[in-house]
Amino acid sequence: MKYVTEFRNSETAQALIARIKQTSHKPARFMEFCGGHTVAIFRYGIRQVLPAHIGMLSGPGCPVCVTATPDIDKTIAIARMPDVIVTTFGDMLKVPGSRASLQKARATGADIRTVYSTLDALKIAMENPGRSIVFLGIGFETTAPGVAASVLQAEEQKIGNYFILSQHKVCPPAIRAILDSGEVKLSGLICPGHVSAITGSEAWEFIARDYGIPCVVSGFEPLDILQCVSMLIDQVEMGKAKVEIAYRRGVTREGNWHAVELMDKVFEPAPANWRGIGVIPASGLRLRDKYRRFDAEARFDIKPEQSIEPKGCLCGEVLRGVKTPPECALFRRVCTPESPVGPCMVSSEGSCSAYYLYGEETN
Ligand code: SF4
Repeated sequence: MKYVTEFRNSETAQALIARIKQTSHKPARFMEFCGGHTVAIFRYGIRQVLPAHIGMLSGPGCPVCVTATPDIDKTIAIARMPDVIVTTFGDMLKVPGSRASLQKARATGADIRTVYSTLDALKIAMENPGRSIVFLGIGFETTAPGVAASVLQAEEQKIGNYFILSQHKVCPPAIRAILDSGEVKLSGLICPGHVSAITGSEAWEFIARDYGIPCVVSGFEPLDILQCVSMLIDQVEMGKAKVEIAYRRGVTREGNWHAVELMDKVFEPAPANWRGIGVIPASGLRLRDKYRRFDAEARFDIKPEQSIEPKGCLCGEVLRGVKTPPECALFRRVCTPESPVGPCMVSSEGSCSAYYLYGEETN
């Protein structure tokens, strides 16, 4: 198959659904880690076509959603410093911090600019030599290599006013934390497609080996996801636990070594604070000593006030797969995409947003 429409072919989808119904006998519960999968599963109505004994849970794989409130507060504190311009991808703007979002901080005078890539941020740095340009580094293994490349470019071009506020996260330690917590019992994991394109499917082998949980890497089209679920069901029925790929056009076992090398050259593992999970060792990325002069945290003396979590918001539980959005008393009543209370409603990849837009459940 070459074109995206081929991955949405209705006859092939019907055949896969029929196969799933025919082969699936044991109750099972699968978690999709990635927010992109959450949206695709809802948009294409995948949950509704699966047998009733197959449960689906959403995990913490939305980078905007897992950014912790203190990290947003820290970003706003930097943006309010004199002669600073904070550059960020647009999806972070509306995420609530303790007292404001980046959007609100901008409305009250902070210079916060939306960019589409680190190249835009570097351009702003070159055009504003008298100011400090901070790029807010959000995202998983998919975005970190590009940010690493921008640091190398800044070094090569001697751009001394470009800084990274690294809030990057890497996925395997978060999955391990969720499994170790024992809060959710999973029969299989739908592994993230884009992250796996960088890390390779081997990044998930510890899940099959250490936890006995089947893993299949999926793409984002309906046939990818149905194929992935079918492969997970086969493993469950046969009592196997291994890592397979249902997204061969994007993922290999080894991944993209060039991107991984780039990331490793500039960043090193560091503890990171995940919303709803807390600080997980080695689940974040900080600039290595050699590149510390580009580190916004080293450049600025940041003392944000004590953080406050949004009252009544269950994003933490939703991100751990412990609760679903309709179990939050604020869902639809108070919290909507137009007036979001928590990040899971802000982000286009958030579970609450997906339930709101495509879910049949209401409370
Ligand atoms: Fe938070 Fe809103 Fe989701 Fe409730 S519905 S968990 S308040 S984002």
